[in-house]
Amino acid sequence: MTDSVKTLCPYCGVGCGLEVSPPASAGRATHRDSQGNPIWKVTADRAHPSSKGMVCVKGATVSEAVDKDRLKYPMMRDSLGESFRQVSWDEALDRIVHRIKTVIATDGPDGICMYGSGQFQTEDYYIAQKLLKGCLGTNNFDANSRLCMSSAVAGYIQSFGSDGPPCCYDDLDLTDCAFLIGTNAAECHPIVFNRLHKHLKKDRKAKLIVVDPRTTKTAEAADLHLAIKPGTDIDLLNGIAHLLMRWGKIDTYFIDECTQGFAEYAQIIRHYSPEIVAQSCNIPIEDLEQAARYWADSERVLSLWSMGVNQSSEGTAKVRTIINLHLMTANIGKPGAGPFSLTGQPNAMGGREAGGLSHILPGYRVVKNPQHRAELEQLWGLKPGQISPEPGRDCWSMITGLETGEVGLLWIAATNPAVSMPDLERTKAALLKSPLTVYQDAYYPTETAAYAHIILPAAQWSEKTGTMTNSERMVTLCPQFRPRPGEAKADWEIFAEVGRRLGFTEQFQFETSADVHREFIQATRNRPCDMTGINYERLQQEGPLQWPCPEEENPVIDQKEEKLFTSLFKNPAEKPSAKRLYTDWKFNTPDTRARFAAFHSKGLAEPPDEDYPFVLTVGRLYGHWHTQTRTGRIEKIKKMHPNPFIEIHPRDAANLKIEEGALIEVRSRRGAARFPAMITKAITPGTVFVPMHWGAIWADNAEANNLTHPIACPISLEPELKACAVQLIPVAFL
Ligand code: SF4
Repeated sequence: MTDSVKTLCPYCGVGCGLEVSPPASAGRATHRDSQGNPIWKVTADRAHPSSKGMVCVKGATVSEAVDKDRLKYPMMRDSLGESFRQVSWDEALDRIVHRIKTVIATDGPDGICMYGSGQFQTEDYYIAQKLLKGCLGTNNFDANSRLCMSSAVAGYIQSFGSDGPPCCYDDLDLTDCAFLIGTNAAECHPIVFNRLHKHLKKDRKAKLIVVDPRTTKTAEAADLHLAIKPGTDIDLLNGIAHLLMRWGKIDTYFIDECTQGFAEYAQIIRHYSPEIVAQSCNIPIEDLEQAARYWADSERVLSLWSMGVNQSSEGTAKVRTIINLHLMTANIGKPGAGPFSLTGQPNAMGGREAGGLSHILPGYRVVKNPQHRAELEQLWGLKPGQISPEPGRDCWSMITGLETGEVGLLWIAATNPAVSMPDLERTKAALLKSPLTVYQDAYYPTETAAYAHIILPAAQWSEKTGTMTNSERMVTLCPQFRPRPGEAKADWEIFAEVGRRLGFTEQFQFETSADVHREFIQATRNRPCDMTGINYERLQQEGPLQWPCPEEENPVIDQKEEKLFTSLFKNPAEKPSAKRLYTDWKFNTPDTRARFAAFHSKGLAEPPDEDYPFVLTVGRLYGHWHTQTRTGRIEKIKKMHPNPFIEIHPRDAANLKIEEGALIEVRSRRGAARFPAMITKAITPGTVFVPMHWGAIWADNAEANNLTHPIACPISLEPELKACAVQLIPVAFL
């Protein structure tokens, strides 16, 4: 191949367009990595509507990892402790099928669990749902998105009647005030932040508020940084609402005509006077008032958040409390405004569309809704009642199910729970108890592979064709343009083959991913995420497309909506389009009204105390991606972030006689890990920060999740990975 190919970056949910050319092509020198090996050259796709020609270091270097440490053949071992032997696909799949039949016969289908990933393409996700939830009759499919954005999903569903971020990236260019809470977008979603930053530099009146206990790169760029005490987000949000109420800066027309539940909410926020909130959040009262003033003075406020909000034992409440502010000020469904959750994984959004969590089904359906189940049973050619009415196990419940012996087969694909799950010692002990673990991935070794009985080689980015959806609901076709290593197969092909071997031949008659996609979009017909107007041909010809995109016509703006926005915004460039949801201010609830939610803060699930006096917060660095399965194999990124570390405030360091670079043992109630100290005022006193990227393969005893706990939001079941109580002991003093 000599032509360049357009595709999507396989890292974060920003979903930047990439243009990739072969190592050697006519008229130019061979492109090589830092070790001199020929590699595919990656540049930004200037025509991609989401990233507009921008790319960060992860996207730009992705091709350096594609040929390193690849799994090429199925491997098997009978018990842990023995080395793997290469086997044929037949032998590996026969063993899996035999185990599935045995578990169903002895424990029922709920003895089978699959833990997937936002690295899947939508086609992979869809076939996995059809196999597990449809054919096998268990909803025990969960994805690592549970650890990332399930609180945003729950918040949107409860507030708006349906999942789906209502905003688009154009809003970054149009907002009067960007309110970033619990997101270090400058490092974790860099191209979204670049775009916002460009706008802020151009429109000097536009403001940036950043809420984060750390002075991150994002916070450094802010007009106002609120370094709140960890766990006080709801206090802050209710405090801003209190001031907006007090100043009369609310939209009573929108509240009366388009929402429900405001009276109860108003009762709650009455209690959040500036004095109380400033004290609880440990911020100056003037800063709180300034934040509320920015909200009050802005016609268009755009909130962005990610894991700092979602990974919390009250994650859904936090999301809904952010949404409350947008509802009371009518900052939704218009250009430059709205509550916008940033997804972590490249195709977490596609996972939501395909039903890739244990309580949802394809097409933004929910397991508990009998009509939703019936619609899919019909589409999938299954008998009525085949889909279980009970939500399946979330990923942590899969771990506890291994502990109790209720899980007879755990199938892990494209994710690395032996680094990313909370309470890692407990997670690993549970994995050791698994009667049969199938591990399907592109790379070997990984930390999780060590716990597997059967390993299946998966094709990855560039080796299979499929679609991915980014945070702004933009669907991009990602074509295969390189051969697969060894006998690697696309994830959906593996799932479909198992389905056929189990006797579901009718259900898995797919020859190509385009066949899968054609069926998948039927599952979205007349649903909020209607994609029946999107197909491979259109994506090839027109480039990325945003949903909703029904087959009959692309969404049009009705007259009423047109009038509303013409009166609101004089600049024709700001006119609405199908890019935004709820532009008619009608929501997906039965009465079309959005719902306010009234929450008091409960604070951290594990607050600091005498024994464990510090709050540990974990996060991500600019160059690395999650557990380093790819980025740990890229020299440039390894050089950028060579070692783990712990950020400690100088005051705390002085109290504990800690010097820069000293090795610190961090202990929680669950485990311990060691990190060199980085003494910095970027962190607030009493809080410490550790990056979560280092698993056992990349460093000794530096696993942040040895320390974290699994206490989760009761609604979204997303664990509070962002905060736990720890003690610090310099290793020299041990
Ligand atoms: Fe890839 Fe995200 Fe970087 Fe864009 S911002 S290039 S999607 S990692």
